[in-house]
Amino acid sequence: KLGNETAKAELGRSAWKLFHTIMARYPDTPSKDEQTALKSYVHLFVRLYPCGECAEHFKHIVDKFPPQVSSRSAAAAWACHVHNQVNKSLDKELFDCSNIGDFYDCGCADDEKDGMN
Ligand code: FAD
Repeated sequence: KLGNETAKAELGRSAWKLFHTIMARYPDTPSKDEQTALKSYVHLFVRLYPCGECAEHFKHIVDKFPPQVSSRSAAAAWACHVHNQVNKSLDKELFDCSNIGDFYDCGCADDEKDGMN
């Protein structure tokens, strides 16, 4: 059982890292197509997340707080907020979302063009 909890936590940390890093690289002024892509990504992330109880729980959170895709700052703030909802339910410390700015750095600043990657 301990092994399961460790694996679940490890998966969670990896998933959150990717999730927040995607938001940090999302365009400041996304096109309609980019907004649709982020919405799809979030819905498929929820649907396909490998921990079933986590996915089910997170679905309720995302239903209550729909993805904000109008800008990078909106998306990053939204992701921070929904992660905090999970933190709250697991009795974890809340993250200060005003510090989300450059916390997630993918190390890919060199290819900062106009796209999402
Ligand atoms: P994590 O919550 O994994 O966070 C990793 C790091 O992200 C933190 O150390 C901190 O630096 C940063 N961080 C913390 N909060 C925020 C925030 N709000 N915004 C941005 N960065 C932040 N586990 C369960 O046991 N039950 C569940 O129902 C469950 N549901 C989950 C649903 C999803 C969609 C995901 C991705 C994970 C879920 N998990 C669940 C796993 C859980 O959220 C944690 O990932 C796991 O418990 C490890 O926690 P941690 O304390 O290492 O920090």
